[in-house]
Amino acid sequence: MQYTEVMVRYGELSTKGKNRKDFIGRLAGNVTRALQDFPEIEIHPKHDRMHIVLNGAPFDKIDQRLKLVFGIQTYSPTIKVEKNLDAIKKASLELMQATFKDGMTFKDGMTFKVNTRRSDHEFEYDTNQLNAMIGDYLFDNMDNLKVKMKKPDLVLRIEVRQDAIYISNQLLHGAGGMPVGTAGRAVMMLSGGIDSPVASYLAMKRGVEIDMVHFFSPPYTTEKALAKAKELTGILANYSGKINFIAVPFTEIQEQIKEKLPEGYLMTIQRRFMLQLADRIRAMRGGLAIFNGESVGQVASQTLESMVAINDVTSTPVLRPVATMDKTEIIKLAEQIGTFDLSIEPFEDCCTIFAPPRPKTKPKLDEARKLENRLDAEGMIQRAIDGMEITPIYPNQKFLDDKAQEDADLL
Ligand code: ATP
Ligand code: MG
Repeated sequence: MQYTEVMVRYGELSTKGKNRKDFIGRLAGNVTRALQDFPEIEIHPKHDRMHIVLNGAPFDKIDQRLKLVFGIQTYSPTIKVEKNLDAIKKASLELMQATFKDGMTFKDGMTFKVNTRRSDHEFEYDTNQLNAMIGDYLFDNMDNLKVKMKKPDLVLRIEVRQDAIYISNQLLHGAGGMPVGTAGRAVMMLSGGIDSPVASYLAMKRGVEIDMVHFFSPPYTTEKALAKAKELTGILANYSGKINFIAVPFTEIQEQIKEKLPEGYLMTIQRRFMLQLADRIRAMRGGLAIFNGESVGQVASQTLESMVAINDVTSTPVLRPVATMDKTEIIKLAEQIGTFDLSIEPFEDCCTIFAPPRPKTKPKLDEARKLENRLDAEGMIQRAIDGMEITPIYPNQKFLDDKAQEDADLL
């Protein structure tokens, strides 16, 4: 049995008018991109649903991609048949039988019902007649299947439309959220840790298109730490398509801070520089906000007092998607989205190396400003910006394995 199309139901679409058009247009573009390896597919975005006509493409492969696209609430693989009773019966039976073959475990006495909707009111049978006739037919031709009207295990949906009849019996959950790009652009401060990849995922889920900003400090940080952040970006690109990765050299700033400032303020001042740099890059790239992976109280630099002393450098919105989540909750999400295993690989990033043994948990804003003024902040920021490197990163692109290493050596 071959599904002929996938019916896609939109996510949070409370907004109307032009926004709705943008939403649907973006989603169609993002679905097209996610399915670009299947050129036979046709995508028809309509006002209330999107139809993906498979033209022979395998649904199980399409399914893998589709479930990562934000803006899709639910979707159903569907069979399109001609408008006659025999065709409906035949396809309904095939569909129900295939469902059990394709992994759904059949339980003895499993319950179902048929749910018909008609937009073609000229069709020779009405919804009640179709529900009864197809229900009886399935009941007679399948063993141990019971009809149940309230909360059945399976619902066979029949839609009678002008052009044809569409039959499905699965309602699959999409990624939810809003299509990437509908909420504008922002920069994401991405380390190699557990939290910032999860924050990236959550930002994209709200429709934000992100550029990754990553600070690295050679020779204190290794090539591997940089490759790890890039590879994490490759995993996250599965949810959005290509992401630009911006590597920003941070060595000079860290060395100067360590040399010239008291140890208790190393962390605070480093973070102030990171935020200033992220904000410059945001402005250069037309972004509207900055995202990071901070969680309130998790470490010294993430107390509310620290946020006051650090956030002082900009009035740009700094959004923290995991601010109120426990570490265990963040880890659970990291596992779900596929970044956890890579995040816990032990390659030191620039903050661990210059981390003072006792950073201030309650830094003073005035003190932070005063200390920063002892440095050539503007010069260092400009040199870091001049040294930044932008790499487009594609879904699942690898940077850490041997193959990636060989490719890099050849360049
Ligand atoms: P993560 O798991 O995201 O690394 P963390 O708990 O280790 O988080 P910190 O290392 O204190 O937290 O960093 C807090 C946030 O600051 C990170 O989530 C990230 O947004 C940003 N950040 C830290 N290091 C870097 C870096 N090298 N490049 C870019 N952003 C960074
Ligand atoms: Mg970190």
